[in-house]
Formats: sequence, C-alpha cells, structure tokens
Amino acid sequence: MQSLALYGGKPVRKTKLGYGHQYIDEADIQAVVDTLKSDFLTCGPKVEELERRLCALTGAAYCTAVSNGTAALHIACLAAGIQPGDEVITTPITFAATANAVLYCGGRPVFADIDPETYEIDPASVEAHVTEKTRAVIAVDFTGAPCHYDALRAICERNHLLLIEDAAHSIGTSYRGGAVGSIADLTTFSFHPVKTITAGEGGAVMSRDPELARRVSMLARHGITRDPGLLQERGNSNWYYEQQMLGYNYRLTDIQCALALSQLDKLDRFAARRRELVRRYDEMLRELPEVQLQKEYEGAGTVRHLYILRLDFDRLSCGRREFYDAMQAENIGVNVHYIPVYWFPYYQSLGYQKGLCPNAEAYYESSMTLPLFYGMTDQDQEDVIRAVKKALEYYRK
Ligand SMILES: *Cc1c(COP(=O)(O)O)cnc(C)c1O
Repeated sequence: MQSLALYGGKPVRKTKLGYGHQYIDEADIQAVVDTLKSDFLTCGPKVEELERRLCALTGAAYCTAVSNGTAALHIACLAAGIQPGDEVITTPITFAATANAVLYCGGRPVFADIDPETYEIDPASVEAHVTEKTRAVIAVDFTGAPCHYDALRAICERNHLLLIEDAAHSIGTSYRGGAVGSIADLTTFSFHPVKTITAGEGGAVMSRDPELARRVSMLARHGITRDPGLLQERGNSNWYYEQQMLGYNYRLTDIQCALALSQLDKLDRFAARRRELVRRYDEMLRELPEVQLQKEYEGAGTVRHLYILRLDFDRLSCGRREFYDAMQAENIGVNVHYIPVYWFPYYQSLGYQKGLCPNAEAYYESSMTLPLFYGMTDQDQEDVIRAVKKALEYYRK
C-alpha cells in the first residue's frame, strides 16, 4: 500500500489541480478587445446579440441578459409575483443564492428533500410541501443534470404554481429533447467563471411568456420602459420614457456579452469534453464498492458541470474531513457541493431547524466533488482517479 501524502508520502502530482477552471482563448480576448474599441461598452449591440443567441440555443422566446445568476433569480422571483408571505419550494442542495432570491422578495423558501440517487429535488417531496401560500417552485439542475420535469410540471399545473428553473449548472443540457431554457416558465443562467461558459460575471433569464418577459426586462432596467406600445402616457418626444415599477440596475455590459458570445461558440466543444470526462470517470470508478455514482432521470441529455461521488464511510476507517484532507494533500482540489442551505447560521436565525431534509443531509455528509472542467487533460483525470483509489485502499476497512 502506498503511503498517503497526508502522512508524509509522495503526492500523486506535484501541482494542485483545481475542481473547476474557466477556459479563455485568443478569440475570447479578441472579442473583448474589439468591444472595448467599439462605441458601446454597455446597452449596445452585443447585449441583444447574446439575448438572441441564447433564445436560439434554448428555444426560449425571450431572454434578458443580467449582471449575474443571483440577479437573474431575484428578478425571476419578482416577475413570478413572489411577495411577503408567499412560499416558494426549492432544494437545500444548492448555492445559497437560489433560496436568498426568495428572501429578497419577502417570501419564505420551503425546502423539499432530494432524491438520494439523482441528488435532484424529489417531486414527491415538492408535492408534500405545497400549501395555500405556495406560489412557485425553484428547481435546480444540480450538477447540470435535469430535474424530473415531467413530474414537476404536472405538480405545478395541478397547484397553479410557477416553475422556475435555476440552470446555473445546466446550459446545454436537455430533458426529453427539450433544451434547458424552454422547459420551465422562467429559467436562469449564470456565467460565473466556474460554470460551463463564462462572462466573468453574468447571467440571463429565459422565458416563453411575453408578460413574464416584459416584467423581467423592466426589472433589470430600473423598471423603465421606452417601448411605445407599453407607455401609459403618449410621449410626444423621443426622450420620453416611463418608470412603471421599482426595478434595479442588473444590466450586463457589452464587454461581458462579447465574452459570453465567444464562449458560446465553444459550447459544443465544452459539452463534448465534459461528457467524455464524465464517461471516463464513470468507467474507472464504477467498480469501487465504497463509491456511489450519480444517477440521472430518463430523458436526461446532460452537460455535466460537477462530478460528485458519494462515499460510503461505513466501509472506510476515515471520515469525510480526513478523506478531503487526504485528496488535497495529493494535490487534487476536491470540493463539497453543497452545505444544506438551511444549515447556515442566517437561515437558522430565521427559524429553520436541522433535520428538515434527511436525504439532503445524508447526501451532504457523504459527498465529494472531483475536478471537472474543459481544460483538464487526460493525465489530470488519471491523477484524480489514482488519488481516489490510493485513499480508498488506505482507508478501506
Ligand atoms: C452559481 C450559482 C448561482 C449564482 O450565480 P452567480 O452568477 O454567481 O450569481 C445560483 N445558483 C446556483 C445553483 C449556482 O451554482
């Protein structure tokens, strides 16, 4: 047995491999430079081009590009009409921003449990949490795999709820042939550098419904419109515009849109490589008895953002903390996604108790995210697998 780097052995690699990393090429740099030299740094043609491109990619009818994925979730909730006293059902296994967006509107996030095999929000648990106050469901395509949208859509229709899809992880993914962006009433993207495509910071809200889209678009621009068809008073001049609701400045700059557009040119390549890396991980880790791989729902056409193992610590002589430290010492930048949102002190202070979602909590205690990103080489991936096997051999009971 090899000695673990954690206890003074030789690490599987000399330099640290991160769990995610953006991929920026010369075309991206040129696109940004060209926009810097153009007339518009913001509110210009690159914004509309990105919005059109995202509609074409997803089949959505409307898109508003916004400053980040959190802003996208915020205005999606506002456009959905979330108000103080309203409940919105979501998953605890997500980045805090998903639930925070509900709080921004004065609503109350209600946490449904996850499916222990797919790690996605469990439709049965969603249904069990519907009350008279429920207005919407925010499903998160956790890791990039789609949720069970047939079931979620049926629940939302039966109970007259809006379905919001947090697709921060899942650009390029499809479910039963429909692209993410055209499935839910409102879909939000994030273009943070760890996500599949990046704008530095950035996001977008997609929708099919013209009325929802109108509200989203105004909310991202101070609640202001210049659209002659929407003005309440007839403007007699070109300078006339109206603020019709309280909105925000959530605009995305042309500089960022240019980067996002150039990144979208590479989405097929990014997706193909991510799929290949996932296939290789699955192949090489499937036989390990301590390891559970993520299952996906039928009809999933996934572009995976995260690759996660569930480890059976009953079979190991270490806990998750030790396993994590051991992988870091081997220079493999593992991570954990996510701490259940309601465990955070802020949520505890709002009255959420630990124990709400047993599957989510058990998932969290056992999960470990392995590196997955476009620029990863086959050798990088082999290092990860060697480190996983080395640690498992060492700690195996
Ligand atoms: C990244 C992320 C967000 C927030 O996106 P930002 O662009 O960082 O604001 C929201 N939800 C999920 C699931 C995310 O991973």
